[in-house]
Formats: sequence, structure tokens, C-alpha cells
Amino acid sequence: MSVETPASLFRTLPANLQKMGRWLRRGSAAENDPPGSRRFLTQEQFQEELVVIGLSDQPFGPMQYAGALGRYLGLTISVDIIPDTAHPLLSRELARKGVTGEIRYRADLDRAHVIVPGSLPPFALAFTLLHELGHLAAGDLFVDPCDVDLLSVTSPFLPTLEVPHKKRLARGLPFARIGDREHEADLRAGYAFVAGCLGSENPYAQRMYDIL
Ligand SMILES: [Zn+2]
Repeated sequence: MSVETPASLFRTLPANLQKMGRWLRRGSAAENDPPGSRRFLTQEQFQEELVVIGLSDQPFGPMQYAGALGRYLGLTISVDIIPDTAHPLLSRELARKGVTGEIRYRADLDRAHVIVPGSLPPFALAFTLLHELGHLAAGDLFVDPCDVDLLSVTSPFLPTLEVPHKKRLARGLPFARIGDREHEADLRAGYAFVAGCLGSENPYAQRMYDIL
């Protein structure tokens, strides 16, 4: 491992500025999606979010992700892993909805509450928690449920919705279609699970250093 002195940092400054320029241009290219639409989040974009909340190069689990996300958004995020034997109705209610967990958001209290049944196997439990937190990171919880669920749009650009001016982690707007929001929450859960397991060994975290 080499340690850069201020002098060597100064020598490499032009190259670093070039890299920064490339990164900024890439960012603006992503913003060239047609107005009111965007594509699904990529692993690189997710890694940029991890940089913002301070988890890019370290191992983390769903609880650490919830803590970092809550600090960034200025929200209290509580996680309840409910013992199914004591609350069988919860599992039945979730099963009826076809989901394995749920997140509730109270804008007036600056609180978000994730609920998952404790009977889920460990991997499914972690994935479900990260999926629900992914909705919060994407700003999906700011979407008015009365907004139209648009159906006819040309791929690969997917319709998005304007939402009230709330602090979001995601750079893009939430998707208009529920199915797209669910798919991206699954993507976020997968990205987070891998990034959290690999920590500094994550190749995407290492590429952040190249970019920045
Ligand atoms: Zn979901």
C-alpha cells in the first residue's frame, strides 16, 4: 500500500481533475433520459449512493444501512422483526398482499417503520429488510398512492413521477408504475446485500476510487 504525500497529490492533481470531469460527464449523460422517465438504477449508481451515506467501502448489514440512511434523510427508522407465533395475523396479512415485509412512513413524525416476520430464513429476512429500505432510499414512499399507475411506455425508459420536495437519497425520481418500483427495490436489495458482504473487497467500491 502506498501513502500519497501532499507533494505527490499535487503532481497527480491534473489527472484526478480529468477523472472527476469524466465522472461528472457520465452523471449528466444519465440525466439525458427523456423527461419524466429514467432507466433502472445500476450497481455503479447504487455505489455512489453508498459513498454519500458513508458505507461505500465497509461491510454492513440491513441495520447499519437503515442507520446510515436514516441519518442522511433525517428520519428515525425503526425495524420490527415480529415473532410470528405471537402475531400470526401479521404473516397472514402480508401473505395476502403477496409481500414478505412492509414499510410505513409518517412524514409528520419524520419516522419510517419496517415490519418483517421473524420466521423468514436469514437470507430472506436480510433481503426483505433491504428491499423495504430501498423503497425509502428511492423516495417511493413520497409517491401519492392516488397517482395514476401508467401502463403504456416505451422501454428502456420508464415513467417517473414528480414527488413533493423531500430529501431523497436517489438522484432519479420514483417510478410511476408500482411494478417498476418493486423491481428496483429488489435490485437495490441485491446490490446492498453484495456490497455489504464484500465491504472494501467490492469491485464497485474500488472503482469509486478510480472515478473520484
Ligand atoms: Zn416492495
